[in-house]
Amino acid sequence: MLKLKSSREIEAMRKAGLVVWEAHQIAKRLVRPGVTTGEIDRAVEKFFEEQNVVPLFKGVPGRVPFPAVCCISVNDEVVHGIPGSRKLVEGDIISIDTGCKLKGWCGDSAFTHAVGQVDDDVQKLLDCTSGVLQLAIKLMGSRNRWGDVASEMATFVRDYGFAVVENFVGHGIGKNMHEDPQVPNFCSPSFRRKHDFELEPGLVIAVEPMVNMGTKKVRPLPDFWTQSTADGKYSAHFEHTIAMTEDGPWALTANPRSGEEEETIDAATTTKG
Ligand code: MG
Ligand code: MG
Repeated sequence: MLKLKSSREIEAMRKAGLVVWEAHQIAKRLVRPGVTTGEIDRAVEKFFEEQNVVPLFKGVPGRVPFPAVCCISVNDEVVHGIPGSRKLVEGDIISIDTGCKLKGWCGDSAFTHAVGQVDDDVQKLLDCTSGVLQLAIKLMGSRNRWGDVASEMATFVRDYGFAVVENFVGHGIGKNMHEDPQVPNFCSPSFRRKHDFELEPGLVIAVEPMVNMGTKKVRPLPDFWTQSTADGKYSAHFEHTIAMTEDGPWALTANPRSGEEEETIDAATTTKG
């Protein structure tokens, strides 16, 4: 069941989204060679404690419950990486995904950062993945159905020569982190026929493109959580929690102070191809 949110509920979700955004600023400032992924996770956990919010990821059930407040995935790791003793080195990319619940409402977002200087093709992967998320936000303001947005996302990524991950998708979000509908970053005929949905005011979804440099195929690692690319090439992941309002799409986990969207999409366009 798809649950639409009132404008008051969306305002409450923005408050949760801003805490998630702040957590990402703390994490981003720590990203440099020599820092461990566990140190970044602990800084975010401390911030969530200070803010009195409930981390969404810690304890998520699986073969073993997820042990951290962030999923941290490095290089060829796509999503669901477990933070720990791995030290970042120059040229790595690090995807940080985190979320929290404030007064009953959830926020969820992810960013991928370069560690120091990265190769040009890796920078292109980051530009493509952040660019396709910003494209999706923009298109949500002019398209009627998600399938139309998703098919343009897939074309955008294909034009870069990269591959959209299909095994993992975005999701509705509200009082729970994962609600209906499923939000793929590509559009199959069966999605259009059976699962497509209208972009109407009150809809709140987490849009989270995962883009691989090589094959779209992923494989699980033996830790029961981490998903890597099947060919060992790099992967990036960006995510925002986005509400449809009467005035158009609103990225609830985005920078409160500036046009983060516009800047990113311009950068992506100039380096495209
Ligand atoms: Mg997430
Ligand atoms: Mg998510």
